[in-house]
Amino acid sequence: MTRSSRLAAVALGAAASLVLTAAPAGAAAPRFTPGAPGAGDPYFPDMGNGGYDARHYDVALAYDPATKGITARTRIDARATQHLSRFNLDFLGPLKVASVQVDGRAARYARTGAQELEITPRHGLRAGSRFTVSVAYSGVPKNVDDPALGVSGWIATPDGAVMVNQPIGAATVYPVNDTPLDKATYTFRLTAPKGLTTLANGDPVGSVTRGGTTTSVWAMRQPMASELSMLAIGRYDVLKTRARGRLNLTATDRALGISPQLARDFNARTADVQGFLARHFGPYPFSSTGGVVVKAGVGYALETQGRPVYDLGRRPGTIPSATLVAHELAHQWYGDSVTPKRWADIWLNEGFASYAEWMLTERDTGRTVQQSFDAVYATPADDDLWVPRTADPGRDNIFHPTVYDRGAMTVHVLRKTIGEKAFARLIREFPAAYRNRNVSTAEFIAFAERVSGQRLRSLFDAWVYSSGKPSL
Ligand SMILES: [Zn+2]
Repeated sequence: MTRSSRLAAVALGAAASLVLTAAPAGAAAPRFTPGAPGAGDPYFPDMGNGGYDARHYDVALAYDPATKGITARTRIDARATQHLSRFNLDFLGPLKVASVQVDGRAARYARTGAQELEITPRHGLRAGSRFTVSVAYSGVPKNVDDPALGVSGWIATPDGAVMVNQPIGAATVYPVNDTPLDKATYTFRLTAPKGLTTLANGDPVGSVTRGGTTTSVWAMRQPMASELSMLAIGRYDVLKTRARGRLNLTATDRALGISPQLARDFNARTADVQGFLARHFGPYPFSSTGGVVVKAGVGYALETQGRPVYDLGRRPGTIPSATLVAHELAHQWYGDSVTPKRWADIWLNEGFASYAEWMLTERDTGRTVQQSFDAVYATPADDDLWVPRTADPGRDNIFHPTVYDRGAMTVHVLRKTIGEKAFARLIREFPAAYRNRNVSTAEFIAFAERVSGQRLRSLFDAWVYSSGKPSL
């Protein structure tokens, strides 16, 4: 994510039916128990669930401008990871559930706790078995407005809506195992009146117009964390080009009055910056790229997978700066393809994304990465920047400047310590080693130690595990 304050600063399956069969003679009958209602993140204990692995989401959603509401059906292909008597999805807000089916048969359900949709299938689900859960629902989604973390989820706009989900918005739009630990592939089927554009992550698969409505299908074929899923519905100008052999789809909200030339510049800038980053971080990890400039009033840009969302509602007529594009595209490697296991480790995302801004600034202006480091390091020792610990800043501080600025400074100090050659290898090999996976700070440190052949624990103790300004 990039907040507007920073924006200004940087110039801105197989439905295996799970009928229980008699256990073989002599084998103990399996004991079926409920899946956990959380995924174990200390910052967000209600997020995510246990007992299964979501493999694929198929989100079919029809938008009605008259009510600003949706009628939707989300189908999830999953695999049980324990003998399940029941399991939970996260589902938050006023949307009304019409029905829940497991493997095509009606299942009992209840809305419980802060955001739980508790589902009891007719029969227990055996560990290792595949199952499909389908939820039909409708209503007007309501976003999350967290006092510390801002607005996420479904954001109504004058002519449609935008969905941006970091950290807890996805469950306002679709039932989901809402934890970065459970990545899955996605299909979005978005229906809206003819004349409105619908956009989502991934590759456009096709669209059908019937009567007065158009349904567009989008496929995200690489595993994605739910916090990185996006939708946009409204009046957009769309540009499709190629960037290093991949689709580069950019879109700009017409309400922002962005000139056709600037819209083309935004598309070209996306391709250029992606190429620059790929030279350092290795091959771009997804099958398509691009970006969507929206007028949503949230005041931030977000690294939604394969296609970041940039809210420029406060700066109509402009496009994202090159450094902002560098930030969000750097996340495609650091944050999206490789995702922290816990929210406490979000500096691994924001430190590298902020460092990518410094790298691009060096290429474009000659102001060196060292000069960028020096400018931030000059922050007085009594400044709040130095207070939270970077690798565990606290739930309300996951977007604190320490995560961004001290994160980027940590990357630079690491570079100075291990040398140019090892650093170049590290920033390229780390995203490849953990592609489509989750990672902890401890695993990053171990990886850096292997690549460099150096002991780095004291460096990270000073820079990410301690409060206070480290000396150089
Ligand atoms: Zn970011």
